[in-house]
Amino acid sequence: MKKSNFKVDPWKIIKNGFDQGHVKACESIFSLGNGFMGQRANFEEQYSGETYQGSYIGGVYYPDKTKVGWWKNGYPKYFAKVLNAPNWIGINIRIAGIPLDLNRCIEVSNFRRELDMKRGIYKRSFKLKISTDIQVAVNVTRFLSMVESSLGVINYQITMIKGNAEIEIDSFVDGDIKNYDSNWDDPFWDHKTKIISKELLLLQSKTFKSNFDVATYAQTQLFDNNGLSIGNFTITEENQIISQKKKHNMAEGDSCTILKFGGYINGMNHNFNDFKNISQKIVSKAISKGFDKLAEEHIQSWNEIWDQSDIKIKGDDKAQQAIRFNIFQLNQTYNGADARLNIGPKGFTGEKYGGSTYWDTEAFCLPFYMATKNQNVARNLLKYRYDQLGKAIENAEKLGFTDGAALYPMVTMNGEECHNEWEITFEEIHRNGAIAYAIFNYERYTGDKSYIPEMGLEVLIGIARFWAQRVNYSEFRKAFVILGVTGPNEYENNINNNWYTNFICHWCLKYTLEQIVRVKDQFLNDWEVIKSKLNWRDVEADRWKDISDNMYFPKHPYQDIFLQQDNFLDKNLMSASTINENQRPINQHWSWDRILRSPFIKQADVLQGFYFFEDQFDKASLERHFNFYEPLTVHESSLSPCIHAILAMRLGKKDKAYDFYLQTSRLDLDDYNNELEEGLHITSMAGTWLSIIEGFGGLRVINDQIHINPMLPDAWKAFSFKINFRGTIVKVEASEEKISVKHNNKDLIIYCNGSLINSN
Ligand code: BGC
Repeated sequence: MKKSNFKVDPWKIIKNGFDQGHVKACESIFSLGNGFMGQRANFEEQYSGETYQGSYIGGVYYPDKTKVGWWKNGYPKYFAKVLNAPNWIGINIRIAGIPLDLNRCIEVSNFRRELDMKRGIYKRSFKLKISTDIQVAVNVTRFLSMVESSLGVINYQITMIKGNAEIEIDSFVDGDIKNYDSNWDDPFWDHKTKIISKELLLLQSKTFKSNFDVATYAQTQLFDNNGLSIGNFTITEENQIISQKKKHNMAEGDSCTILKFGGYINGMNHNFNDFKNISQKIVSKAISKGFDKLAEEHIQSWNEIWDQSDIKIKGDDKAQQAIRFNIFQLNQTYNGADARLNIGPKGFTGEKYGGSTYWDTEAFCLPFYMATKNQNVARNLLKYRYDQLGKAIENAEKLGFTDGAALYPMVTMNGEECHNEWEITFEEIHRNGAIAYAIFNYERYTGDKSYIPEMGLEVLIGIARFWAQRVNYSEFRKAFVILGVTGPNEYENNINNNWYTNFICHWCLKYTLEQIVRVKDQFLNDWEVIKSKLNWRDVEADRWKDISDNMYFPKHPYQDIFLQQDNFLDKNLMSASTINENQRPINQHWSWDRILRSPFIKQADVLQGFYFFEDQFDKASLERHFNFYEPLTVHESSLSPCIHAILAMRLGKKDKAYDFYLQTSRLDLDDYNNELEEGLHITSMAGTWLSIIEGFGGLRVINDQIHINPMLPDAWKAFSFKINFRGTIVKVEASEEKISVKHNNKDLIIYCNGSLINSN
């Protein structure tokens, strides 16, 4: 068990004490978001120490020209980068002419950060010795409204503890912003107009190349001791920074409060010409409501979210805090209101992975949104891929595939591939399978039979066409093989017959054929449209069946185990426990060559297949594969421990499952992979949720019926969760003494530990 950097509390994340070396890590942990925009927990005031500034807007990206050593045909021309957007939170303070800068002041004390996950509110407080005669206390409260998606609110309060002084406030919008992760140091933002008045700061900008229009706005108010507003800001403009400034004299014991409203108006939703009006309206509405009312509405919105998605754990605050942190971040990242948006591996907490969409969404995130939101949210995640089918076909064409074969990108913003490492871009093709699997998973869970005829089948056919062209028949093996791939385990590249990829290809073809038969049978009109739109030929079905029936699966010569790939047994198989702790994570210590030759597995690979398709393998087989592969696994992808937690529970290995649970759920809180500064692992947080619901809760949906099999880890006294199953809220509570299941749908069939139960 790792030592935590944060105080353990069931609803809060708390960091006491100021540590310059931990500022960037805290900026990640205390990040805020509202599904539309998000930001790292940067200080409002200037900070001369090391910091990683980040504020992001959903869907707004820059196509950064790629940088590669050896250009390969088929590489994409750009890598989409989520944009670090203009900074609207900035409030610089000078006290008696000395900048308030935590890195430079004489002494910081009582420093505390607190994220109240229940209410979605972030607070920071500290005392500061500015000079021998002057000491101040600062209390800051900030939130990004869950009610008004373009609105952020900051309440910045300064109290003179010792001395009298003039304070200078400089509340600004800064357009001079760069991405840390940029290939050529190109400017990403073109600032078009600046509107600057005593009331409103508005920076209207366009992104170069991708032409996104965005307005960054801010408005500041100052209140004295008695809550009276002190007006008359002076305004200044310097390069790309626009400011509202004010001087204010404070005597010992005085306080003042700076109230700042700000955020972004996104051209994806509004016309550029309306930006000014819209931001003015948002601000005047916010001002008339005031801080308390805005906070109250925001908190109410979080109450509703928690009412549906909270998981309660009794007896283990560390586990409780962790699951809430994961659920909180998932809700901050995506709300399903807009099918053009998706879930980047870092959400709004950092630039890594470009803010783009990966297979993570379909393989890990979808179930969380299916079970904690209404059905449309999950449907929008699927629709995102449906809307990008044309681009997936173009992607495949670039690689030489024809006739409507679709290869979904490894990494994308708008459907175009952004990734350019051949061993991943061209070879990590299993991602196509996850997109098909999500369609199956969605229908299985929601019972929505309309998605496949309306949209899903076109996607499935595109994917199946790709597989049918990507395989080849091996005369030697008398079976279909898939050569030159990278499986989910990215610590092996360009291998042949990755079992997981071969299996998911086999499954996709079979499943698509079944869906074609069903749609023909039950939705003939839809089928006629699809048939002519996709230029369908019946011979395709014959070939798909042939491939699916005759796919090659590598097997151990004398143990009943599928091999990860053809040459897996040539490796020097030794347990990951033999790796010295000071060499972990190996991707930060070993050469790539050494990693590739090693037997160590980055994340579930064969076991990912056993997770998705558990009904096709019995427990004994799962146990053999788990015992063979898990010891070789280093879990250096955040997506790994969650799958292992679920499988371990299925095998009754409670202690192991619990260790994996802590690892997945506290990955960021305890910085397991030494990379917290870069941002949070948002997509794996959905895996954490899965590890409770499917792992300890044992939830499965089989033939339109719910099956649960709750089992408590030894450290827990009880736990409970809710799922939205086809419009019915089902509440499951499991304690050491009993299991209770509550809902109000008399037609719902639920099995608990194999027995049919009555609702209560
Ligand atoms: C994992 C991939 C994942 C990506 C983004 C990589 O480290 O190996 O499976 O899609 O991170 O989360």
